Amino acid sequence: MNMIKAAIFDLDSTLINTQKIKERIFDFIKDFSGFDNADTAKLYKAARSRGGEITFSLNSLEAQLRARVKDFNRRRWTDFVDRFDREDGSLIIAGAIELINFLKAKKIPIYILTLGVAAWQESKLRYSGLDKILGESGENIKFTTEERTERGKVKEIKEILRELKLKNCADIIFFNDRPDETRAILAAFPELRVIVRREKKDKRHSDRDFEELKRNQQVIKVAVDLNLIKEITELL
Ligand SMILES: [Mg+2]
Repeated sequence: MNMIKAAIFDLDSTLINTQKIKERIFDFIKDFSGFDNADTAKLYKAARSRGGEITFSLNSLEAQLRARVKDFNRRRWTDFVDRFDREDGSLIIAGAIELINFLKAKKIPIYILTLGVAAWQESKLRYSGLDKILGESGENIKFTTEERTERGKVKEIKEILRELKLKNCADIIFFNDRPDETRAILAAFPELRVIVRREKKDKRHSDRDFEELKRNQQVIKVAVDLNLIKEITELL
C-alpha cells in the first residue's frame, strides 16, 4: 500500500517554464506594438487579471492589443498564435517527465491544480508537450481563476479530497513554486507535505521567503528542478 495517496502539481513554474513563455509574450508585445518595457508591462497586466480574477488568454491579449495598438497587424498576430501549436519540449522543467512516469508506475493518482483560464492553461500543456506525458492523468485538472488562494486553490483541493474520499491531506504530496501561496495552502491543510520548486528568475519572491517556508516541517524540500525520485521514494 502506498503511503502517498495522490500527488498534486501546480502547473506554472512548477512543471513548465512559464517564465520563458512570459518572456516570449513580452518580446512579442514589444515587437508588435513598439512599446517600451513599462507600456508592455502595463498592457500585459491589463490582459492578465482584473479584480482578483485571472483573465489571461490569447483572446484577452488580442483584445488589449486591438485596443491599444494603432495598426493591428492580423498576419503577425496569427503567426504569433500559431507558435503555440508547435510543441516545445524544452519548456518542461528538468526531471518532470521522469517524476510523472514514476508516479504513474506506482499507480499514484496525479492531479494538476492551476490558477488561470482553462483554455490558456490547456494550450500551455499542449505547447510544452506535457499533455502527452500526463496521458489520462491529464484529465485530473482543476482550474481556478480566483487569485485569493483561500477561495481558489484551497477550494479545489477540498474537491480533490472529496473525489479521493480522503478526510485530510496527510497522504498527499503537493508540488508548488510560490512561497506565499504555499503558506496559505499549508494554513488550510497543515498535514499536506510539500515540495517547493524555486524559479530563480521569478523575482517576486526573495531568499527570505523560501527560508521562512523551509521552517515549516511539512516542507520536505526546496529544489530548483524536479529530479526528486529519491525524495519521493523515501516517502513511500
Ligand atoms: Mg506556479
